[in-house]
Amino acid sequence: MTAHTPPPPTMGCRNAPLLKERGQHEVFCGLTGIIWLHRKMQDAFFLVVGSRTCAHLLQSAAGVMIFAEPRFGTAILEESDLAGLADAQEELEREVDRLLARRSDIRQLFLVGSCPSEVIKLDLSRAAERLSAKYAPRVRVLNYSGSGIETTFTEGEDACLAAMVPALPASDERQLMMVGALPDVAEDQALDLLAQMGLTNVSVLPARNADTEVSVGPNTSFALTQAFLGGTHAALERRGARHIPAPFPFGEEGTTAWLRAVAQDFGIDQARVDAVTDAPRARARKAVAKAAETLSGKSLFFFPDSQMEIPLARFLTRECGMEALEVGAPYIHKALVAPDLDLLAEGPVISEGQDVELQLDRCRAAQPDLTVCGLGLANPLEAEGLCTKWAIELVFTPVHFYEQAGDLASLFARPLRRHDLLKLEAAE
Ligand code: SF4
Repeated sequence: MTAHTPPPPTMGCRNAPLLKERGQHEVFCGLTGIIWLHRKMQDAFFLVVGSRTCAHLLQSAAGVMIFAEPRFGTAILEESDLAGLADAQEELEREVDRLLARRSDIRQLFLVGSCPSEVIKLDLSRAAERLSAKYAPRVRVLNYSGSGIETTFTEGEDACLAAMVPALPASDERQLMMVGALPDVAEDQALDLLAQMGLTNVSVLPARNADTEVSVGPNTSFALTQAFLGGTHAALERRGARHIPAPFPFGEEGTTAWLRAVAQDFGIDQARVDAVTDAPRARARKAVAKAAETLSGKSLFFFPDSQMEIPLARFLTRECGMEALEVGAPYIHKALVAPDLDLLAEGPVISEGQDVELQLDRCRAAQPDLTVCGLGLANPLEAEGLCTKWAIELVFTPVHFYEQAGDLASLFARPLRRHDLLKLEAAE
């Protein structure tokens, strides 16, 4: 059996009224991004300038990996630093000296700001500039904020990539930049498809190693693979690069539309794209259809969390036959998600931001079959009998492009199957 994707809706959600909420929200902070970024950039080190709370967050999110050869750590701000009794700036620079003396493998060092470093107004950009001058060309030192104040967990990656853009060398070459930290397996598949289409001058931000040249300029077109890269998108445009708007490469439809948009930008004809994509498209449709047996006809409610909600709602409604009741996203960057909104049929409430109590009321009233939310809300909602899916898993699991389409659908089917089994057991 293969899935059938319906034709584009006559009325998508691009201009649907937005429910804007600005109340209390339940999210993880941007430090979380370090967990997948440090795996991607193999010669980078992330030094969080924060408190013991920040260190605990990283240790528990990273599990045992911290005991291996760590590529992230925390420079702990003690009470004397926070009270302004010590020169935290000098101490930080001494800490970096010690780290770089010990670790010759580090080629890129990120000083990552946190709530405490922001409260005491520690100037990490000045520290990064001074340290960069001191350690160039062996090590490049950059800084960004992973602070949890008013942010979501995916913003850490956006802030990190945006911080890298001003340091990229300039180039006038006609080239494609693929932007977003993907697991290597998904990234390799995308590069292979692009190469088969005839695109060879392709770079990836972030690159796996500091030595891989990634340049930018007016003849660079860039395609985003993650929907949460609004700051990086703006930074690349400031360097003269041009964004290729496209649905995000989730599922068969999203991947095909993404590749077609890139092909069009580079003057590659559709027949060539079809020849390259026909076989993987058929495989993706077949794999999605299997999981869609569980998902089809089920209702869906997204709490705002990962910023991937709109492209995922498009995939789950169009390729898996689900019905979206509410699609909440922390921020809606129309420049990034409009092509996905065009494909999402009108009907669901589209909400931006959060007022968690009001949204919980709407969710309880709607009684969706599946609720996608953060860890903090999942347990209480499960206790109330709702079936939930943690959004955070989506950034740790390969879910992009054709060969992962079936896995992506299965990630949503699994909690529904488990929920049904538990109900059956309870009834016996
Ligand atoms: S950056 Fe802020 S929210 Fe994140 S762990 Fe540190 S103190 Fe907590």
